[in-house]
Amino acid sequence: MRMLLNALVIIVIAAYLIETLLDYLNQSTARNPLDPKIANLYDAKERERSIEYSAVKTRFAFYSSSFSAAIMIIALGFGWFAALDRWVRDRFDNQIAISLVFIAVLSVISWLLNLPFQLYSTFGIEARYGFNKVTPKTFVTDTIKGALLTIVLAGGLLTAILWLYQELGSNFWFYAWAVVATFSLLMFMFGTTLILPLFNKLKPLASGELRDEIEKYCQSQGYSLGRLFVMDGSKRSTKANAFFSGLGKSKTIVLFDTLIEKLSTKEIVAVLAHEIGHYKLKHTLSMFIASNIQSFTTFALLGWLLQYEQLSTALGADQASFHLSALTFFILFTPLNLVIGLIANSWSRYCEYQADTYSKNTYLIEPMRSALAKISTDSLANLTPHPAYVAFNYTHPTLLQRINNIER
Ligand SMILES: [Zn+2]
Repeated sequence: MRMLLNALVIIVIAAYLIETLLDYLNQSTARNPLDPKIANLYDAKERERSIEYSAVKTRFAFYSSSFSAAIMIIALGFGWFAALDRWVRDRFDNQIAISLVFIAVLSVISWLLNLPFQLYSTFGIEARYGFNKVTPKTFVTDTIKGALLTIVLAGGLLTAILWLYQELGSNFWFYAWAVVATFSLLMFMFGTTLILPLFNKLKPLASGELRDEIEKYCQSQGYSLGRLFVMDGSKRSTKANAFFSGLGKSKTIVLFDTLIEKLSTKEIVAVLAHEIGHYKLKHTLSMFIASNIQSFTTFALLGWLLQYEQLSTALGADQASFHLSALTFFILFTPLNLVIGLIANSWSRYCEYQADTYSKNTYLIEPMRSALAKISTDSLANLTPHPAYVAFNYTHPTLLQRINNIER
């Protein structure tokens, strides 16, 4: 038992050290000279501001992850998880209720511990650099809506999983995975039209020059446009973005109002062509399948390991429970998660290259290049990240890599 507990503590410390080391490496290349292709994107003052912005964020991440790691180690070392389990057990009889209450209490505690960091990041750092548009009112309503949504959706899913576990024992995992996969399929198809409008206003792109240019491009590609929305991203941040979601008839492209405000018509069409590229090259579909394969593996491993009550007793409990064993399982899973993250990020960066190339081949190279540059510099992106940091954390290649790719 002691050995498993020690392993958990070592995993928490190792993950923390890796994260910190990557941040440190990334800071060490912050002042590297810029490639001539991107050297003129920032003037001296803006470059300095971008370096400072990433330094401030890195320092903040260090405090925040040090705090989380410390709390986790203390909680493991002092048996706080088992203590919470006993506290809940004294008050409830039903196994499903015990697990639900345990997870709910733990979620609220971790939300409260994280709240000061979240507030400082939004109203301190992001505001200082002129990115934040979240008002205290938006923050409060976002929090309330997010909490209600979590209670309904995550609570519902969790109840279903716990019920399956109670009925089927460790064979539950396949059915639990099927429930989660069905739910994620529904979210994948309808999330943008059902969930997103709870937080943002989405309206169809108005007719005009931009709409005409987009329709002209889509016709030339034999792509039926489907739903095209403009979202009020400016409600929360000045940073520009666009994304694609859905499958078949539910396919949807969302452009942030900040993107439309900052880019020229041709640049916006180039970005839209990139998003359509993701669809045409089946990236959205393959990512969705890959994430279901990943959850399948996770559930299978969870089902297998739940037979061992040591997963619960290692935390100091005197009897096994789904929630304690699952907690141990997810900590044990961290190293594997790191590897999966590396693979997933590398695959995602590969898809980004392909979508950029698609946009260049079916539309124009120049507006793609300037759009990429504008989006990066406008958000004060670090133009010289460390390759190791990129490998672990970037879902998109660096600006220089993307420019080199479309020029190839
Ligand atoms: Zn993309």
